[in-house]
Amino acid sequence: MAFLTQVNGAPYNPAGRIVLMSLPPLLPPPRCDVLVVGAGPAGSACAHWLARHGMDALLVDQHDFPRDKTCGDGLIPDAHAALQRLGVLDEVLAVAQSLTHVRCYAPSGRFVDIPGALAVLPRRQLDHLLVQAAQRAGARLATPWRFDSPLRDDDRRVVGARLRRMGSEPRQVAEIRARHVVLATGAAPQALMVSELCTRQVPSAMGLRGYVRHAGMAERIPHLEVAWHPRLSGGYGWIFPCGQDIYNVGIGITDSHQARSHAMRDLNLREVFAQFVRVHPNARDLMATGQLQGELKGAPLRSSLEGATHAAPGVLVTGEAAGSTYSFTGEGIGKAMETGIMAAEALLAGRAEALDDAGIAAHYTQALAGLKPKFAMYDKGNRVNHLPWLTEILIRRAARSERLRARMGRLLEERATPAQLITLRGLFKLFTE
Ligand SMILES: Cc1cc2nc3c(=O)[nH]c(=O)nc-3n(C[C@H](O)[C@H](O)[C@H](O)COP(=O)(O)OP(=O)(O)OC[C@H]3O[C@@H](n4cnc5c(N)ncnc54)[C@H](O)[C@@H]3O)c2cc1C
Repeated sequence: MAFLTQVNGAPYNPAGRIVLMSLPPLLPPPRCDVLVVGAGPAGSACAHWLARHGMDALLVDQHDFPRDKTCGDGLIPDAHAALQRLGVLDEVLAVAQSLTHVRCYAPSGRFVDIPGALAVLPRRQLDHLLVQAAQRAGARLATPWRFDSPLRDDDRRVVGARLRRMGSEPRQVAEIRARHVVLATGAAPQALMVSELCTRQVPSAMGLRGYVRHAGMAERIPHLEVAWHPRLSGGYGWIFPCGQDIYNVGIGITDSHQARSHAMRDLNLREVFAQFVRVHPNARDLMATGQLQGELKGAPLRSSLEGATHAAPGVLVTGEAAGSTYSFTGEGIGKAMETGIMAAEALLAGRAEALDDAGIAAHYTQALAGLKPKFAMYDKGNRVNHLPWLTEILIRRAARSERLRARMGRLLEERATPAQLITLRGLFKLFTE
């Protein structure tokens, strides 16, 4: 175990020392019940759930952990619920910055506070905690191994994967046989493409963020902050406090029309970020007198449960690879874990009920279909990103109505029916109550 710990990265060595540098890297085991590719929140949750219920899960990732992931790092209530199911909520909250509301700014600078169980934890820490929790549950981990292509039998069923060790010279490859493969590879489409499961290569949205250290903003920004403005090209800006004077500052462009066209790829995210800094006073002051830690980094998002085939013989697709991120807000950590657990549950049902591939696929796609109303609500909400005048009206309205704020809080907590907001009646109530 000490050896595996060292091969997979120093963090797993409790003493923090690399002891066996001279030994050759360990190959991943050649067989497993379920090979989970990608150790983000979706893959770790899936492997965790499988291992906890007695299945032999091998979790692989192209990076050693801890690793960075470009994200806003915000944990909304669905993430709290999934962390609770995994039994790691307390552990996460012990190191996260807990917050009680999100402050939403209209273009005029007016704002409204929406209550909710919220937290911020940089993904470098969160994802590492989740990987370690999966290992504690019994999942095996192999890093830095990249999924190159699926292995298929004569009927073209996926029966494993060909992996390549990152940075190995000479090139080191391994073939892993698995009863089932789960792709939890996030927003990058390559793994989906080589598996013939990608139905849309372009992302649904793009985001860019940086970490800023500032010692004098704690009183001004004791909440998550999101701002809309016509200069933000159909998107929004955010400031999420990570604690210890560090702020995650970023912009998201969620224009689904642009995303589906080539315009999205060429969109200058840095220019939109610069606009955010110009139009939003807290962002301006953070950037003007704080210190940027490292670089601004951009990344794609895949949302609305679109862009991939979710199940095929021998393989399930989960998390952001399956489009599990919300389009309106770009929040996806919670639903990544939730869908990862759903994939695990489908495979566990397959074992318990002796289901064939079609039965497992039906189990999984039915569970995903249950999430559709929530995604539909966020898709409708996404229109607000392109109508800043509407955010102005909504925010002014909500600032005056405690009932409306409470209703928005229930939506954020996923305790209200999404249909309430997207029906004509719901909209009418929004403007009249
Ligand atoms: C700028 C930005 C801001 C965001 N802000 C928020 C936020 O504040 N809150 C929120 O909830 N969500 C946010 N999101 C969305 C969130 O990042 C995703 O929803 C979430 O990371 C999805 O989790 P996942 O496990 O599906 O994928 P990922 O977290 O992307 O994990 C995928 C893993 O797969 C690995 N991988 C990929 N390809 C291979 C391969 N071929 N072989 C081996 N390993 C591979 C990767 O290394 C990675 O570790 C944001 C996204 C962006 C881009």
